[in-house]
Amino acid sequence: MTDSYSLLILPGDGIGPEVMAEVRKVIDWFQANRGMRFDVSEGLVGGCAYDAHGTPLSDETMAQAQAVDAVLLGAVGGPKYDNLDFSVKPERGLLRLRKEMDLFANLRPAQCFDALADFSSLKREVVAGLDILIVRELTSGVYFGEPRGIFTEGNERVGINTQRYTESEIARVARAAFELARKRQGRLCSMEKANVMESGILWREVVQKVHDEEYPDVELSHMYADNGAMQLVRNPRQFDVIVTDNLFGDILSDAAAMLTGSLGMLPSASLGAPAANGRPKALYEPVHGSAPDIAGQGKANPIACILSFAMALRYSFGEGQAADDLEAAVEKVLAEGARTADLMGPEGGTPISTSAMGDRIVAA
Ligand code: ATP
Ligand code: MG
Repeated sequence: MTDSYSLLILPGDGIGPEVMAEVRKVIDWFQANRGMRFDVSEGLVGGCAYDAHGTPLSDETMAQAQAVDAVLLGAVGGPKYDNLDFSVKPERGLLRLRKEMDLFANLRPAQCFDALADFSSLKREVVAGLDILIVRELTSGVYFGEPRGIFTEGNERVGINTQRYTESEIARVARAAFELARKRQGRLCSMEKANVMESGILWREVVQKVHDEEYPDVELSHMYADNGAMQLVRNPRQFDVIVTDNLFGDILSDAAAMLTGSLGMLPSASLGAPAANGRPKALYEPVHGSAPDIAGQGKANPIACILSFAMALRYSFGEGQAADDLEAAVEKVLAEGARTADLMGPEGGTPISTSAMGDRIVAA
């Protein structure tokens, strides 16, 4: 508890700085009331970094990100930067962070808060109490495999991508998922298409081997990803942790997101290998983007960013109780009816501002 946690905050563009200001209040509360010490530094990423330095992520900020226990990012991008050259686009700043920190495990929780169960794309009865975690492999697979490109073959062109996974790439994301399952309900479902893909056959074999040798206590099941998609919208509560590859994870985590309602509620974490102090390289960020349509108006929902900080408490700082308490505070203010504009149902009501929502959560 006397340990100090180093945190680099990168608010970014659009609503990023607005939602991050609310996280700052939460951090201050934990410092004042729980004796935690955060060594917080702040930097630029995305369009604002381009405006200041002509690059979406400076080498100095990159080096800082490598050195801290956790990076918390708001959002990057906006219409102002749409016509920039590809090499300096705001999103390149985020991609550089992910790549250089080698963040191979992307964690996307889908949790249904009871007060918002009617926002789900499914019936309340199907999603009430939903709490699943999708772990997506983030640095390999078909998005990166070679050969890739558009080639000429005879008298026509052919577009080629290659799904490629090495045993070690599969094993490391599997280990990350088993570790998480162990701390949750102890169940892991691995999804691939071993029926039609060689990489899927290897995926299944390696995940099973890691299970048998290192995590026999975790209950492991395998599912074809197409069936997984079906099960996710039929009976999502059957899952605890799901581990899958880059492409399937991209699709399945977006589908799972819609089980919970608003984009303004969804946190994420991207984890890499453990550093010398045992803490993994880690980047936390809300799933939503910079929302230029509402930026600067005090309308943004800060909960996705606040819940991303809760994930940092849990996965980087080992403060599971603090993370639980923060999530409980969010649940409480929602149950009391506090709503930002994105959470207004058809019944209407008066939305509260970004800052009022942050204050309510801190008070709770
Ligand atoms: P990106 O390309 O960065 O993912 P995007 O345009 O796909 O961006 P967002 O920027 O996330 O998506 O915005 C999508 C919609 O959701 C917008 O109408 C935006 O206002 C809304 N939205 C996103 N985040 C929030 C939030 N935290 N609170 C309220 N509304 C939000
Ligand atoms: Mg988007």
